Amino acid sequence: MPLVELRRLSKTYQAGGGIFGQAAHEVHAVNGVSLDIHAGETLGLVGESGCGKSTLGRMILRLIEPTSGSVNFDGQDVLAASAGELRRLRRHMQIIFQDPYASLNPRMRIEDIVTEPLVIHEERRPSRPAMHEGAVAMMQAVGLDEAALRRYPHEFSGGQRQRIGIARALMLRPRLIVCDEPVSALDVSVGAQIVNLLKQLQQEFGLTYLFISHSMPVVRYLSDRIAVMSRGEIVELGDCEQIIANPAHEYTRTLLAATPEPEFMT
Ligand code: ADP
Ligand code: MG
Repeated sequence: MPLVELRRLSKTYQAGGGIFGQAAHEVHAVNGVSLDIHAGETLGLVGESGCGKSTLGRMILRLIEPTSGSVNFDGQDVLAASAGELRRLRRHMQIIFQDPYASLNPRMRIEDIVTEPLVIHEERRPSRPAMHEGAVAMMQAVGLDEAALRRYPHEFSGGQRQRIGIARALMLRPRLIVCDEPVSALDVSVGAQIVNLLKQLQQEFGLTYLFISHSMPVVRYLSDRIAVMSRGEIVELGDCEQIIANPAHEYTRTLLAATPEPEFMT
């Protein structure tokens, strides 16, 4: 059984009809997407800006409520889950965002940021020393100093902040991480370090990734399979190297042509 099963998943937004007098219309951000994510794999989700990638990724965690369709996680119906069930489910599903500057609370020390998920989610919250020990171990896992725990987000670079975001996501030992353009805001060389860290952590923690990016080379570097998304729909899905060698869809060819290989991946 796949870890995640999406069936005919859709999200429609009402747009326009506002004070500027545009006609009201519907935006089909995600339109009838069905796909599986298998335990232990990296599924790359690639497509140009605005095609619906973030909406799709967030609907899996139910951070965005789908308009229709179904989401199954490890056999459980996510959309039917009660508030309590959803909270327990979210222990197993975490998300890393594109912008490490916006996703960390500037007023919180790093230790409080990375241990916050334990405080929110643990039915039996660990003792303070146990949480501290967990935070220290996690800093090491993501390549940061223990001393970082006493500092604040503004004291860190973009790449270091993304490491902190990853540490926070990992604290509950989730099974699935939705990585929503985690390196798109970073310099290429810093992004390469983060991509390699994600690869390493996948082994170490037995993670499953949905890795979202607009960049085909980045997706290719990490993914076992890729799903190519255009205008809210998956237009091609399959083995990464096979699709790149023999793209069936015109849009995939355009994506492949549009993005040169960053140096670190060649
Ligand atoms: P991507 O992550 O691929 O760039 P998104 O999922 O963010 O794409 O957006 C998909 C489409 O849905 C876009 O056309 C976007 O403008 C629209 N959209 C996203 N969020 C909203 C919203 N809250 N209200 C209205 N339209 C939205
Ligand atoms: Mg997005």
